[in-house]
Amino acid sequence: MRKINITNTVITPPPVGEKGDYCEKHKVKKSIFNTLTGGTVGLCDKCVDETDQIEKSIEARKAEAARQGILRASGISPRFKDSTIENFIITNDDQREAVRRVESIYKRLEWEDKFTGAIFCGLPGTGKNHLASAILTRWHDEKRKSFMLTSVHALMLSIRETWNRREGKTESEIISRYTSCGILVIDEVGVQSGSETEQNIMSGIINTRYEWYRPTILISNLPLVSKAPGEMSLTSVLGERVIDRFREGHIVTFTWESHRGKGKVES
Ligand SMILES: [Zn+2]
Repeated sequence: MRKINITNTVITPPPVGEKGDYCEKHKVKKSIFNTLTGGTVGLCDKCVDETDQIEKSIEARKAEAARQGILRASGISPRFKDSTIENFIITNDDQREAVRRVESIYKRLEWEDKFTGAIFCGLPGTGKNHLASAILTRWHDEKRKSFMLTSVHALMLSIRETWNRREGKTESEIISRYTSCGILVIDEVGVQSGSETEQNIMSGIINTRYEWYRPTILISNLPLVSKAPGEMSLTSVLGERVIDRFREGHIVTFTWESHRGKGKVES
């Protein structure tokens, strides 16, 4: 700020100078900046900081919207979009063990290029979907790699839709979407009709992924093996050979009582 000395009295003129005007808001002098459109604008240092902050928050909002778009398109439902391994509520030792295994699954996904995958099986409403979505969301955020979360029903529907049409994607194109993505999670295994065609398609997708070292996670409300003759199990639905693929991975059983309705853990 220029100071003018008049006979022993120091007076400070209003800070209007050749470089710009006075910022009324911050009570300091503005500087002149060139704008992208070729004009000029006067801003003080604090104004510049504020503008940067606004731009940063706009950028952050755009990035978050893009992230949510990818998560949704990859199959993460709005219900589980904020699910993390950390916000899974633990009230007993079995849940603690399930979370420990899920952490270990994530580490193997991260570090092993030949990881088979996992099976999450057990009672409905015990958090299987929460933890699977948490793995996929972390995978996206940390690795920026592809994944798909689907149900057997949706998977079969997308394939059946190709059978009687002449346009659009072919059956093999749809199947290759499922066999080529980074991680594939198939939910509701065992809810479907269990027809031979369905079993063939499912085992075809799982086997192809196994051969290409691409991890698959199966989610089912059925037990892994039948405890009584004739009881449905994951093994009876998919066959021994398919289930054997997962013996090198992790099988996590969700055996505790449902938390659904208590407003804590979602399946
Ligand atoms: Zn200012």
